[in-house]
Amino acid sequence: MGFLSLRTAALGVLTISFVVFVALFGRLPIFRKTPIGFLHRLLWIYIPHGISRLDMLLLGGRLVPCSLQSISQLMFVPRAWPRLGAIHRVFVPIAIAVPYALLYASITTKCFITPENVKTELAHYPYDRILFHPGNECSTCRTLKPARSKHCSICNACVSRHDHHCIWLTNCVGRENYRYFLGLLVTLSAMLIYGMCLGYKLLEENLQKVFGRGDVRWSKSVSWTTFINYWAGAVADDIRIGAIFLLAAMTVPLALGFLAYHVYLIWAGMTTNETAKWDEWKEDIADGLIYKAKRSEIYRTPRPRDESIEPTSQWPATTDQVLIMTDGAPPRIGFSISTQSNTILQAEDEHAPADPRFHRVETLQAIENIYDLGFWGNLRDAVNL
Ligand SMILES: [Zn+2]
Ligand SMILES: [Zn+2]
Repeated sequence: MGFLSLRTAALGVLTISFVVFVALFGRLPIFRKTPIGFLHRLLWIYIPHGISRLDMLLLGGRLVPCSLQSISQLMFVPRAWPRLGAIHRVFVPIAIAVPYALLYASITTKCFITPENVKTELAHYPYDRILFHPGNECSTCRTLKPARSKHCSICNACVSRHDHHCIWLTNCVGRENYRYFLGLLVTLSAMLIYGMCLGYKLLEENLQKVFGRGDVRWSKSVSWTTFINYWAGAVADDIRIGAIFLLAAMTVPLALGFLAYHVYLIWAGMTTNETAKWDEWKEDIADGLIYKAKRSEIYRTPRPRDESIEPTSQWPATTDQVLIMTDGAPPRIGFSISTQSNTILQAEDEHAPADPRFHRVETLQAIENIYDLGFWGNLRDAVNL
């Protein structure tokens, strides 16, 4: 059995931990202007963009999402198959096929807003008049922008309930394919954990075969350094299974991290796109610029709704809040509110008293998010049921 030195093994483990750390935490504001921030962009933006541009050029954008997965499986499965028990011979093909099906659905399902479907799209979500305001038109598509939608410059289309543009899928994740995307994260995580456990089991069997004494486990009463050294040897000795075992172990935290992030988004009633908008609100609140009042107190007679711009939606949540942004001073009696944003025009009389109906917002929690129906409600909406 060929052995790697302990130093090589330790170096490998350190490198893997570092890459995982950068991938998961490099986006945090604290690393923004540091080499870690740069490595994070390298890992998530520059390298994937480079590969996908090459992929577009050579194969029309179909290869990247499938290739990594396929290469790994071609290396692993034929090698491991003869040693797998009957149950694994049933589960391995399922574990491989399901993520492929969901990947295919995530790539091919588009969520574009067109002149034909814009009317239906407008009715999916009401405008919250915080992040989304009625009556805005996309300057490229020339269609009204439904609440929660966003124009994607890569897809060159407005996307319904835009979450994010995924460079690995070469498609936007939105209202129609979020369920497949979420399913992909779940099944991919499961497949990686399964692959890691299978790899571990097979390598462990190799070690037992060579170093075990009858029923006594090979690892019984060996030191940590010897344990790691033997494992490094096992990986090097059966490199096809060893490399995939390491790759799975390395990518499991990434897949689980992504899955956890999207579970958090569902819990919070946000899309990835909206998190950036809420972050801006958080900053404005910290700067003391945001004031809140009861809508019913400000508009005694509700303004008539223009059905062509803002059709009635079936969305169950409503709110009685009206938010405005000032220069920091409380709104003076006689101010007016812009209908397209949350900014106000202060009253012309500089000495007018503050409007007592408004109160300064102290935390983001004081703002109601009408897109948040609670975890199960949000999940049902996210998977479009
Ligand atoms: Zn657009
Ligand atoms: Zn896109």
